[in-house]
Amino acid sequence: MSAKVWLVGAGPGDPELLTLKALRALNSADVVMIDDLVNPAVLEHCVNAKVISVGKRGGCRSTPQEFIHRLMLRYARQGKCVVRLKGGDPCIFGRGSEEAEWLGAHGIEVELVNGITAGLAGATQCGIPLTLRGVARGVTLVTAHTQDDSSLNWQALAQTGTTLVVYMGVAKLEEVQRELMAGGLAASTPVAMIENASLPHQRECRSDLATMSDAAQVFRLKSPAVIVIGEVSGLGHVTRACQETRDRGLAGGG
Ligand code: SAH
Repeated sequence: MSAKVWLVGAGPGDPELLTLKALRALNSADVVMIDDLVNPAVLEHCVNAKVISVGKRGGCRSTPQEFIHRLMLRYARQGKCVVRLKGGDPCIFGRGSEEAEWLGAHGIEVELVNGITAGLAGATQCGIPLTLRGVARGVTLVTAHTQDDSSLNWQALAQTGTTLVVYMGVAKLEEVQRELMAGGLAASTPVAMIENASLPHQRECRSDLATMSDAAQVFRLKSPAVIVIGEVSGLGHVTRACQETRDRGLAGGG
């Protein structure tokens, strides 16, 4: 049997946001290795799989990347159907391509399966269109957190005229706010901070650029959250994904 690993995006949390391809992979998995941002409810779709948690959130117990690589390799070489399940999309701040490269270099075939990334889901759940004719000509996905603590050129980002979607930004709000304003982004630019997007306990906090850090503190914003910065963040108070469908997703997931 040829050794193969599926690198699968589990989406932002709501199990109904899984793709059919992800569902098929989970159905046929012998081994599923999951990150901690994956909603365990999606495991309902595994028929007989051994589930291994390999989460590694900042500051918590972590599984070394090398260990994850070797575990995937071992099971794949045993001829097992291995699914590496990641939150959102495997290749958006998810190390999917690193894992794919490593496996490929060790002779393992890899199949990548898209998932809905948290930034897209969070915005849509709040009725925010990330692009909008005449308002936002594009969208930029950025992470506020880097392993080497290098900084992004926020001031340049302030000039792009695109909607900014910031991942891993909860601990960096003051810096993001300061740098974007220094780069010329208007203090009144609307901001939406969305915690636990697509899950029943989703929360959203709206503010503007000048006050977003204070607003997040009052709101007690916690990770995981995405921060959407741009004119479009002032929209969506009327049209939004409703709570009922989120609850249904969770119920469906057991
Ligand atoms: N691959 C993932 C991102 C992993 S990085 C994806 O495509 O979504 C982890 C960051 O993603 C978190 O710090 C947070 O910014 C964001 N995130 C993941 N799940 C989220 C959720 N349900 N709600 C809000 N933000 C989320």
